[in-house]
Amino acid sequence: MPQRKLIAANWKMNKGLVESEKFAEEIKSFFDRTKNLNCDIVICPPYTTIHLVYKKTNGTDIKLGAQNVHYEMNGAYTGEISCQMLKSCGCKYVIVGHSERRQHFNETNEIVNKKVLKVLDEGLKPILCIGETLVERQDRLTEAVIEEQLAHCLNQVPADQMNKVVIAYEPIWAIGTGKTATPHQAESVHNFIRKKLKKMFSEEIAQSTRILYGGSVTPANARELFASDAINGALVGGASLDEKSFIEIINCTF
Ligand code: PEP
Repeated sequence: MPQRKLIAANWKMNKGLVESEKFAEEIKSFFDRTKNLNCDIVICPPYTTIHLVYKKTNGTDIKLGAQNVHYEMNGAYTGEISCQMLKSCGCKYVIVGHSERRQHFNETNEIVNKKVLKVLDEGLKPILCIGETLVERQDRLTEAVIEEQLAHCLNQVPADQMNKVVIAYEPIWAIGTGKTATPHQAESVHNFIRKKLKKMFSEEIAQSTRILYGGSVTPANARELFASDAINGALVGGASLDEKSFIEIINCTF
């Protein structure tokens, strides 16, 4: 049974109040015009405009997500944001372990694991990002890297919480580079992820976990990626910044 697709927008460090409001109004009006949308939508603005986008899209099925979170509840962690704070802004999802956070902010699989556990504990849904570098792919290490990331990042996640976990396979060589993985490349890693989930949890969990592809998804390549039942949607960076191209990507799920 093919899964309902999920399209998530990752705005990264872009958009202030004015641009966020404009985007939210456009997408709200798209929702008001479009009946029976074929996919779920999550928008992950920067922290500073999550609540604004939440308020502007309230009453639609659009869900809000954050791009990161701290794994502690509260306290002396200057500059950090907790799950409680995110929930108070209307968040339902949190991107965890994005490669840019691993690369620029030294997030290890162990840190990512703490975040995944906290996010689940707080009733939020993690979008767990995993993926290999170009060198790792060239050295035929993709599967080893993915296996290690899954084992560490999902360590101690109870099986009955896995229905809240979304996995985003994001090959690092494809993020922001304009080089998209072919549907075959993405499919083959998604199938590998399912094989590992089956081993770690169960066949049912392996089949029901949504696995998104991320890495230079655009309106030009989304349809062929979404044609595969192994690809349950996309995490979209650059192309999600423009409301028209984001809506075009959503329309590729029809
Ligand atoms: C991302 O930031 O998760 C991403 C996939 O970016 P882009 O779509 O720009 O490659």
